[in-house]
Amino acid sequence: MTQHTRVLIVGSGPAGLTAAIYSARAQLSPIVIEGEPSSTTDQPGGQLMLTTDIENFPGFPDAITGPELMANMRAQAVRFGADLRVTKVQKLDASRRPFCAWVTGDGEAPSITADAVILATGARSTMLNVPGEERLLSHGLSTCATCDGFFFRGHDIAVVGGGDSALEEATFLTRFAKSVTVVHRRDSLRASKIMQERAFNNEKIHFAWNTQVTEVLGVDKVSGLAVKDTVTGVGRILDVTGVFISIGHIPNTTLVTDQVDLEENGYVRTGLGSYTSIEGLFAAGDVQDHVYRQAVTSAGSGCIAAIDAERWLEAQGY
Ligand code: NAP
Repeated sequence: MTQHTRVLIVGSGPAGLTAAIYSARAQLSPIVIEGEPSSTTDQPGGQLMLTTDIENFPGFPDAITGPELMANMRAQAVRFGADLRVTKVQKLDASRRPFCAWVTGDGEAPSITADAVILATGARSTMLNVPGEERLLSHGLSTCATCDGFFFRGHDIAVVGGGDSALEEATFLTRFAKSVTVVHRRDSLRASKIMQERAFNNEKIHFAWNTQVTEVLGVDKVSGLAVKDTVTGVGRILDVTGVFISIGHIPNTTLVTDQVDLEENGYVRTGLGSYTSIEGLFAAGDVQDHVYRQAVTSAGSGCIAAIDAERWLEAQGY
């Protein structure tokens, strides 16, 4: 049976849950479709479920783990009456009013209709898909230097990738690491000249050119990186205890790809605040942010989306 809500929130990372807290406190009784566990890089709670200690989320001087922070946000949203559901939106029709959403396992009729939708589906890191990667994620293997770099004080680290992100991460990591080796599959970088120059001039940064990762080594923490020379085919092991994968991110936009304006790089285009090209559809968090990508900025953007949606609903007379 189709159920109607004033605000439907899709996604349960910091953006979605903060939007849920604000919408619930504004008496909008939001329904939050949290997602469902399908792989390590796609699950309710978003990317923070993959991090260990978070030391830069304000308010937690002794750090908090990613899963704990998400559990707290979830409990806070539930406390104010948000209706959280562990399932997935399979299809969203943003051309109709109210918006129509179909969730996993439901029939032909829309599962939910909504006056406003907040899209907070996040982004996922592109992964290498090599043996050891999934097992060692958060155990010496990370996708975010700002989040985890601090834990690698004195380590020898590899950063995989040749774009701006990889060089930015590598440069940032030299604050903590003994050495950083940028592992790149070609013999020239994609990154901007200025980032290249900065990295070349940093004596802690080394480069492994024409090098492809074949396996992340280690049982319960990273103990090395197996790589192969793409020209000679010769394999070797890089002696590192930390690995950062920095080969790009993919925003989770499947639900709206052909409906809403996207940036050239595939992220949802937002104008003022969280407004998208579709009236009543708001976007928050990493699905529309390829620049900052922090838990705190994502939470802030969820707050903005909830306030935007509330004011928009009021202005429409809903
Ligand atoms: P990117 O520019 O797409 O670079 C991705 C890098 O990863 C490329 O070097 C690519 O190699 C490599 N790669 C992709 N798939 C791989 C695989 N399966 N195995 C091994 N290597 C792989 O992504 P990004 O660095 O995340 O940057 C995204 C955008 O944000 C860019 O427009 C960038 O300029 C921008 N950005 C800007 C700044 C800044 O200005 N401060 C900082 C970060 C990001 P190939 O080169 O061989 O394709």
